[in-house]
Amino acid sequence: MTHDTNHAHKVLVINGGSSSFKYQVLDMGSERRLCQGLVERIGSPDSVLTHKRWPGTEREEKFVYKDDYSNHNAGMRAVASVLLDPARGGVIDSAADLTAVGHRVLLGGPEYTEVLVNDRVKDVIREYSPLGPLHNPANLTGIEVMEEIFPSLPNVAVFDTGFHTTMPDYAYTYAIPRQLAAKYRIRRYGFHGTSHRYISHEAAKLLGRPADQVNLITCHLGNGCSICAVRQGRSVDTSMGLTPLEGLVMGTRSGSIDPAILTYLMQREHYSGTDLNTLLNKQSGLRGLCGHNDMRDVEAARDAGDENAALAMNMFVYSLRKYIGSYFPVLGRVDGIVFTGGIGENAPEVRSRACADMDALGIRLDEDLNAGRVSQAKKISTADSSVQVFVIPTDEELEIARATLRVLDQASASQKAHA
Ligand code: AMP
Repeated sequence: MTHDTNHAHKVLVINGGSSSFKYQVLDMGSERRLCQGLVERIGSPDSVLTHKRWPGTEREEKFVYKDDYSNHNAGMRAVASVLLDPARGGVIDSAADLTAVGHRVLLGGPEYTEVLVNDRVKDVIREYSPLGPLHNPANLTGIEVMEEIFPSLPNVAVFDTGFHTTMPDYAYTYAIPRQLAAKYRIRRYGFHGTSHRYISHEAAKLLGRPADQVNLITCHLGNGCSICAVRQGRSVDTSMGLTPLEGLVMGTRSGSIDPAILTYLMQREHYSGTDLNTLLNKQSGLRGLCGHNDMRDVEAARDAGDENAALAMNMFVYSLRKYIGSYFPVLGRVDGIVFTGGIGENAPEVRSRACADMDALGIRLDEDLNAGRVSQAKKISTADSSVQVFVIPTDEELEIARATLRVLDQASASQKAHA
């Protein structure tokens, strides 16, 4: 980073959804989180703003504001007034204390990774809304509201698809007629990009090498699950596709299934597109198999003798092992495997079974190091494992804030070059 670390660069990060949004303010001199919060149930009478502040490194202060936040604009205005008021949880004296606002945006197509927002960028976010109907419009609203509230601040869009724009054409193209694919922009985009990027950079630090010299398999296992093949620091393949439905078995999503199942169900059950979307995104995965979508509940049910839960667990691990195995020939040489996300950080059984009996691939887990939940980055492979295995808690907000400063640095460098 070229920023002067003696000077405080505070970045506001906005991670918006359709009826809620999360935010953080980070001091990028120390990369320390100063506050974070969540506005939930926007548009409903019981909407609520929950805000936490860390005045010292240890002490946490929590503030809860219940109000009728009728839309994102009202919610964001409420957040802005909290940020500016020291008695209500504030961390800035004025907008001038902030360097920029970084926004997580779902889909930017193949064009954008991280970029300073202008009208063209907003058009692209709008153009990709049909592929991300729950997120892209909400992300755009977040940007527009911030432009209104803090007109002097630059807004940076950091796309969830951005890290995967480096995939080669044979990895991102689907074998359907090219014209149709072009007409509807159908290709693999991949998601969880900020998380895969963050954990691959952190893993490179643990390996003691520059990020552009390491080959990794990064596993983001949370409510949504995706895996990424990282060659020399760049994504070359990932399990999620046009949407976050493809790939691994997930909490409520089916992951990859034979596409003919859809046409068969349409014929037999007369399902519409909307029905199929709901079926595959909300009623499938672990939930469809055993009724539970939270891995903790699946494990508990399995331990209590529920055979469906045992099958769900076996399938979750099996799909993960198949992807890990398939990325070895994709990468040629694998330096490390990284686990993150709610399941990746907290479920030692999943990590252990994902890496079991892989001596032939050079993977050996140290079961003592692997035991328990992991709250700080650590290595969990044996000293003689040729592939190092890590658990690294992800931090998407920090990655978005880093990307925001990178974009500003690049913008000011190119301005100087043209001056
Ligand atoms: P995320 O989307 O990254 O917040 O991950 C949420 C998911 O992590 C939950 O739905 C659980 O399935 C899983 N999870 C959280 N804590 C644990 C735990 N202690 N053991 C197993 N799974 C967990």
